[in-house]
Order: sequence, then structure tokens, then C-alpha cells
Amino acid sequence: MILTAEQYADVILPLPVAGYFTYNVPDELRDQVIPGARVIVQFGVRKFYSALVHEIHDRKPEGYHTKPIEFLIDTDPIVPVASFPFWEWIAGYYHCTLGEVLKAALPSGLKLESETRINYNREYTEQPDNRLTPREQLLFDVIREKHSLSISELNNSVLKKNTIAVLKELLGKGAVTVEEEMRESYRQKTIAVIELPERLRNVRSLDLAIDSLKKVPLQQKLLIGFLELFENLDPLTDFGVTKKELLQSTGISSAVFNGLVQKKIFTVTEKKTGRLVPFAGTIKEVSELSPAQTGALIQIKQSFELKPVTLLHGVTSSGKTEIYIRLIKDCIDSGKQVLYLLPEIGLTTQIITRLTRVFGDRAGVYHSKFNDSERVEIWNKVLNFGNLRSDQTRESDYQLIVGTRSALFLPFKNLGLIVVDEEHENSFKQYDPAPRYHARDASVILGHFHQAPVLLGTATPAVETYYNAKSGKYGLVTLYERHQNIEMPEILTADFKDAYKRRQMISHLTPLLFSEITGALERKEQIILFQNRRGFSPFIECKLCGWVPKCPYCDVSLTYHKHNNSLVCHYCGHAISHPGTCSSCKSKELTNKGFGTEKVEEDLQLIFPDAKINRMDLDTTRSKRGFEQIIQSFERREIDILIGTQMVTKGLDFENVSIVGILNADNLLNQPDFRAYERSYQLMAQVGGRSGRKNKRGKVIIQTSEPTHHIILNVASNDYEAMYSGQIAERKHFKYPPFYRMIGITLKHREQHELDRIAQELSLNLRERFGGRILGPEYPLISRIKTFYIKQLWIKIEREISVVNAKRQMQEIIDRVKMRDGNKTVQIAVDVDPI
Ligand code: ADP
Ligand code: ZN
Ligand code: ZN
Repeated sequence: MILTAEQYADVILPLPVAGYFTYNVPDELRDQVIPGARVIVQFGVRKFYSALVHEIHDRKPEGYHTKPIEFLIDTDPIVPVASFPFWEWIAGYYHCTLGEVLKAALPSGLKLESETRINYNREYTEQPDNRLTPREQLLFDVIREKHSLSISELNNSVLKKNTIAVLKELLGKGAVTVEEEMRESYRQKTIAVIELPERLRNVRSLDLAIDSLKKVPLQQKLLIGFLELFENLDPLTDFGVTKKELLQSTGISSAVFNGLVQKKIFTVTEKKTGRLVPFAGTIKEVSELSPAQTGALIQIKQSFELKPVTLLHGVTSSGKTEIYIRLIKDCIDSGKQVLYLLPEIGLTTQIITRLTRVFGDRAGVYHSKFNDSERVEIWNKVLNFGNLRSDQTRESDYQLIVGTRSALFLPFKNLGLIVVDEEHENSFKQYDPAPRYHARDASVILGHFHQAPVLLGTATPAVETYYNAKSGKYGLVTLYERHQNIEMPEILTADFKDAYKRRQMISHLTPLLFSEITGALERKEQIILFQNRRGFSPFIECKLCGWVPKCPYCDVSLTYHKHNNSLVCHYCGHAISHPGTCSSCKSKELTNKGFGTEKVEEDLQLIFPDAKINRMDLDTTRSKRGFEQIIQSFERREIDILIGTQMVTKGLDFENVSIVGILNADNLLNQPDFRAYERSYQLMAQVGGRSGRKNKRGKVIIQTSEPTHHIILNVASNDYEAMYSGQIAERKHFKYPPFYRMIGITLKHREQHELDRIAQELSLNLRERFGGRILGPEYPLISRIKTFYIKQLWIKIEREISVVNAKRQMQEIIDRVKMRDGNKTVQIAVDVDPI
């Protein structure tokens, strides 16, 4: 017998516990357990979790007895080892556990939030070679009855001993499965789609068919409904019209549907699919670049030689995307992977259409509106990139991923370029839960680990980024010329306070904006209006006693949504129907205060009865394709006036927009936040950039009570530099980033006085160590959310001081305070570089 050293595996558990945990590899799994694969291990007294193997080694841990790995889930890694240094950086820098990174990184189909579950395999049939023993049968019957149980539940069930061993036998015989395995095996999926038979696939016979249904109007309506859905299919993402979709959209019954099937007008075909549809269009060549764009491209390439991170500061519509496409093409041709990050799901549609035209099936999209199995599939497509298939041909799997921030965690092996588009956007930052990472900053590190250059692109850089570029840390390339020399929009201000006084306001419009909209409508040009509040009115108020309905769980007034006559909390979603009378004095005179997008839409429809008006905000874009549908219909010019929140400001490219109106710039400027002016500038400049794209100079009208506010003037003169110099001077003076690092600490508690007491205690302890670097504790603007009172503290740390040490000391103090009697129920979250 040959004695070899024991094998140990360090694993990451999907729990908020720090560090790696070591298990021993039992003999039967020896040399099968590999880094990046999942295993099932016991943690705590009885619980079982799926964990990710980080490293296999032979170093026996000191001081405790290791438990064995119970099961092996994967025979191939699901996370490349190359990802681990990046995960460790995220956990270290953003001050969270590897388990939290694991949870953020893996699509939920590949991980388990709670304990591992064992499922009954309905395909199991008993054969001579997999017959169950009586003990196995006993356990099997329990699982079959319940369909799915956690291992700890099983442990306590029928068998008094050796449940795990019996379970292993059941798994081996294929009678049960571990849930993680199940989820992966959805791969081959078919969906039933409705098709027209060959004979109806021309306009004439289709018309005849519609006519022939005159006497059965429901069938006729259903056929027409089908045609409408069919025409709106997206060739990139849709397989076809399903029965369910059709019945839902028409509200017609299944019986009517069956009638059409009997008449052989509809045929139902099972389509075998991966869930991701192959690209069906033709691949186009990249566009010819203008001399200015070529210049910028050359400079970027030169810059990458010296500075791995480079900022492309290009005005809106200068062709930044065309430049990205060139860089991406070079990278793809060299056989490497590319990550293209966007701040918002909504933006992916336009961009992916442009990218697939050039890169076809090599481009994939990744974001949170994909369902879980789709995400697992994309994950695997990225993971498999470059692998050889069994027939030795290369997989044509995703080489370019366009995605929102979580795409950062995809299993890249060989990144050659990262593009962060609209790098100034806040939505790159994750607020909750941990890891509270900033995808732009994290991408710089990801690029570093892959030795891939990172290109940050925007018309309005974040102050921090521009500072890094100016100070030489990042390269800087500028492009101040719009494509085809379209002029930058003309920016006008309109004083609404003045117009109110003179009683010249037409609903929410100053005379200037009103006449510009009227003119644009006459010329058949499109209009975008920006209002940063959704809903109908931010609150309602009793005219007699001043009562304002508030959320019982949060410290905010409820927003009135007229379309369903409800009052909604925008922080927790709590909704009630409009009370009709005042709860306090029973008066019926409740008035709407302020205005949101919904009210603007309604009022404008009265002012411009013939205009087609639509709205784009969280409420109208909830469905998977909501955003896309509005954008496409705007592109097709089916909408004259589009009213929207932030969503309309972001990098969209429309051809026919001549007027952009900002209904109330004061709302933006008056936010109590050191970034308010920077953000106001960015929002206004960005939404303004939507105007005047192809052959005409556009106009932007900013309604404000302070037309001479310096930020408004900066926007009007398109002077980013001036805004930047003003802001950077203030940041320096008031000790804010980029000169100081900030760490935010948020405390939450259901009892206000407890919260006050603990926050005070924490701040005293922190001050002892950090002195004047501590700000707060303070209640935020919304001081109670979802029944939790909230207080915040900040640590401001000089750039020169080791942030690692500071974070460690901070954590020690937090732990100490939390450990004290009476303090255990407080929740404390740390946010590094809060925004
Ligand atoms: P940005 O990303 O800087 O806002 P885009 O790349 O979206 O600019 O360009 C704006 C518009 O001009 C797009 O419709 C784009 O297709 C077009 N465009 C820009 N550069 C070129 C080019 N070199 N050839 C053809 N079209 C271009
Ligand atoms: Zn609420
Ligand atoms: Zn009242």
C-alpha cells in the first residue's frame, strides 16, 4: 500500500463568514475535486451547503479536526481559477466576505442561497442494476413524497444513522439529484410557438383568411392579434409567438384558439432551443471612421501602451461607440475576450443591435432581467469560450459580453479589453447587498489581473475619473467634435418663477418651452421631456388641515399614482388606494402637490391633444421588454413626445429629436449631497445630448428659477472644464473624494432610541481612534425605511493613510460595539467609496 498525503480543500461558503474553510477530501473523491468546482459540505452542526473549491493542498490545518467533503457537484470547474484574485480584491477592498462575493458573482442557478436541497428525480425507474435496498427505499420514499428536502431535514427524518451514506447511494443510482445539478440540466428546452402554414405566408391569402373569419369575430381578432405580435418580434431575442402570450394579450380563450388550429390557420410547432437565439442577420463591416475619430483611436492605442486605463472624453454623438467597436474588433481578432459594461439594462438594446451587426453570435448580453436559466447558459457560454469541442472544433461561444455591473463577475479566462461606457453613471455602484462595489473602479482591477486595457468613455466624466486623467494616473483622449460636425445643441434657459408670477405658465411649461414644442410638433420632429420624479404627484395634502398621507413603514409621503388611483411608497413599495377623504378631519378636499411624469403626461395630452405622448419611467418599464418597446416605438416615430425620468438621459441615440426640455432643474440642483452639482451637470448635459442628432442643430430648454446658477451656465456653454474646476476646488476645500477616501457606515434598528444610543456609542468609539475624520451620526433624508430607523456615519481618510489598516480598525470597533449586551439587534453595513 502506498501512503500519500491527505488532500485538503479550501472552500468558499455562500455565507457572510470571513475567509476560506478547510475540508478534507475523502479517498473516494481523491483527485476528482478540483478548484472552481462545487462540492457539498457540512457547516455548523447539521447544515449542508454547496461551496466552491478554491484550492486543493496537503497542508493539514492546525488545531481543529476537518470534516470531509460530502459530495462532488461538478466534475469541471464552473469558475476559472483566474477569477479568484479578483474576488479576493473585491472582498478586501469593499470590506465584505468571499461568501458575499460568491453570491453576487454566480447566477442563482449555480449557487445556493440557503442549504443544499435534494430533489426527487422523476425520471428514475428501477432497473436490475440500480435497485434500491430497503434502507434506501425508505429514504427515497420520503424524498419522493416531499419532492425536495434539505439534507438537514433528511438527517432528522426516517433513518436514525448514516443518512449521508444512504443519500450518496441514492445519488449514485440516479434516484435523487442535488438541486444544483438539476438546474443545469434544463439545457435542452423546447417551446411551442404558433406558426402560419405555408399556404398563408403571403399577404393575399392571409387577407382572404382574415375575411373568411368575418362570422367568427373572436377567431378573427385572435388571428389579427397574432399578426401584431408576430410583427413586433425581436429577431435577436424572440423565438416566436407563444399561445400563452397570444391569449394573454388578446384576452381570448383557449377554445377560440383551438378553433383556429382545427381550421389549420394556426399550426403549433415545438421549437428546440437553447434559450438564447442565434443571430440571424448578416454581418456588416465596421463604419469608416472620420479623421477626428481615427485620431482618437490612434491616441487611445498609444495611451494603452503606457497607461492601462484611459478615459475617452468625447462629447455626445462624437462616435465613441464607433471607436469602441474598432477596439473590440482588434481584440476579438486577436482571440481574446471583451467586456463592455453599461450602466443600465435599457441601454443594452440599442448597443447590442449595433454590436451584433458587426460581431454576430460572438456577442452576448448579460443583465438581471434575464431569468436564471438564461443566466446560467450565458455563464457557461463565457466559460466555454476557447474550449475545444469533442470534435476538436472551437466553440463559437461568447467572446464579447455586453452587460450591466454584475457582468464583471462572469468567468472570463482571457480578457483583452474592458470598455466602461457612460462611466460617470451612478448605477455602476451596487448599494445593497454587499459587496457594495463600483463596477467602473472594480473593472480597473479586473483589467489589471487580466493585463487587459480598460477604456472609460463618457461625455461628462465623473469628477474622480477626470481627476485621475488630469493627474496622469489614467490616459486622457478627447473628442470634442460631433460626428458629421453636427453642432452641439443650443441651450436656453427659461425662468419658471418669473413665468409663474406673470401667470404665463401653461401647465408645467414656460411660454418658451411651449412654443418650441408646438413648433417641433408642426415640423414632425420629436421631443424629449425630463422630469426626475415618477408618479402623478409626490404627495397629496388636505386643504383644510394639512394632513399628508405617509408610509407607515418609511419616513416619506406616499406618491399618488393616478392610473390605478393608488398611493405608493417609492422606498418599500407599500401601496394603498386613494383614501378620498382626509384621515384626520374627514374633509374631501385632498389636493395633489408637485408633479411627476404621470401628471406631466396627462396635462400635456390636454395641451397637445393630437400629439402622441408616451412616458418612460420605472412604472412603464417594469416588464422584461418594456424599455425596449418604448425605445423602439420612439425610434419608429410612433411617439411625438417622450416624457421620462433619468432613464431618458442615458446614452440613447435618436435621429429625429429636436427639442429636449428639462422641466425643473431646481430639483436637481437642490439635493443635499456633495455630488449634487456634478450630477446636475451630467444629467442636463446628457439629456441635452439627445437633441439634434442627424442633420439639424437641436435645442435644449432648461426650466429653472435660477437661470444664472453657475452650473446652469456651465451646461449652457457646454463647459465641462469649468464645472470640473469649480467642483474639484470644493472637493479639496471640504475634504471630499478624490482627495479623501470615504467609508460610509449605516446603522439600522427598529427602535429609534436604541438606534440613537448605539450610533452614539459607535461614533464615540470611532472618534477615539479616528478623531475628526468621523462625520455624523446623522439621519439621512429618509430616516426610516421598511420599519428600520437609519443613521449614518462617515470616515474620511487621507489618501496617504493605509486604508487597509483603517478598515481593519474600523471593523474591530464595529465588532466590539455590536458584541455588547443590548446591541446585537442593530444592523451595521459598511460602504467603501459611497456615492
Ligand atoms: P457617442 O457614443 O459618442 O454618443 P455614437 O457612436 O452613438 O456617439 O454616434 C452617434 C451617431 O453617429 C450614431 O448614430 C452613429 O452610428 C453615427 N456615427 C458616428 N460615427 C460614425 C461613423 N464613423 N460612420 C458612420 N456613422 C457614425
Ligand atoms: Zn415605505
Ligand atoms: Zn384634513
